[in-house]
Amino acid sequence: MEKLNNSIDRSWIDKCNKPLIISGPCSAENEQQILETAKRLNPSYVQVFRAGIWKPRTKPNNFEGIGKKGLEWLHKVKKNTGLMVATEVANAEHVKLAISFEIDVLWIGARSTASPFTIQEIADALEGENNKIILVKNPIHPDIELWMGALERLLGKGIRKLGVIHRGFYTYKNSKYRNQPNWNLLCNFRRILPRIPIICDPSHICGNKEGILDIAKKAYHFQYEGLMIESHCDPDHAWSDAQQQITPEKLLEMLKELTYIKKCYTKSKRDLNSFRILIDELDENIIALLAERMNISKKLGVLKKSSNIAIYQPTRLKNIMDKSINLGKNLGISEELLKGVFKLLHEESIKIQNQIR
Ligand code: PEP
Ligand code: MN
Repeated sequence: MEKLNNSIDRSWIDKCNKPLIISGPCSAENEQQILETAKRLNPSYVQVFRAGIWKPRTKPNNFEGIGKKGLEWLHKVKKNTGLMVATEVANAEHVKLAISFEIDVLWIGARSTASPFTIQEIADALEGENNKIILVKNPIHPDIELWMGALERLLGKGIRKLGVIHRGFYTYKNSKYRNQPNWNLLCNFRRILPRIPIICDPSHICGNKEGILDIAKKAYHFQYEGLMIESHCDPDHAWSDAQQQITPEKLLEMLKELTYIKKCYTKSKRDLNSFRILIDELDENIIALLAERMNISKKLGVLKKSSNIAIYQPTRLKNIMDKSINLGKNLGISEELLKGVFKLLHEESIKIQNQIR
């Protein structure tokens, strides 16, 4: 991993005004939408214009991207505004076309990162293209090895201008996020590859407009080096991800607020906050698990009632306690804490089940 880390070429991000801001619509729809959105983005804050041309959609029969002609519009943006331009690639043909239209930044989407065949195909097609910046989004599920594997495949073909994008992870349980962020996993990622530029994509994490600023602030506390935020000249009528896109003017407001908070934080305050974010993330998970536990306990209560089984089962309580204390021992959790927690949980279960009676 040290070799991988040392091979990363950071020149593209080091020379940028940090943080690097990538913005533009989820999808290119027509030339006017692309040119107008780009024109309304403030170039003192935004360095890269993004637009998806080929859209990986979870379900069929949705808008799957405008295709090649969108690359001409991106090329116009590059010529008219001087912004760098970015699009998503998912196969060798996409790579070839994007290169022929002088696209500066290619990103690999979450669904593609999850497929080693796709990544290898993209890496092969990129061989010799040493000036392209390639950003690899996290795979849909939190598999750090798979994500690193994608970087290794690209480096194996001499692609060194690399970065990663944290866009959150699929989660089955109820979550307030479209894709659950995992700050802790990203901290581990950085520990393994300290030189890799990390960019945060609050739009795909939130799935709505309201949460974007909060996630962008969190990314700031973890010293991410850039943000990718979807913007659209007419978000309510966007052909994809309408709920999460904001106007270029709203984006500017947010970026100004972020610049302001940057002035308010010392390094130690920032570190303190990043630990608190990690704790809050775990607390959210604990609460979601408690809710699930209580739900099952309720169902068990109904069953006990219909089968005429006593609510309180002393051997069951003893089993739960013993098992938990044992598990905790290996993880460095004190017996006292676990006894207290499981006593409370058990009492709550009994209470719930008594209410059913
Ligand atoms: C996108 O950036 O529009 C996109 C499709 O992202 P992801 O791969 O994160 O879903
Ligand atoms: Mn999108």
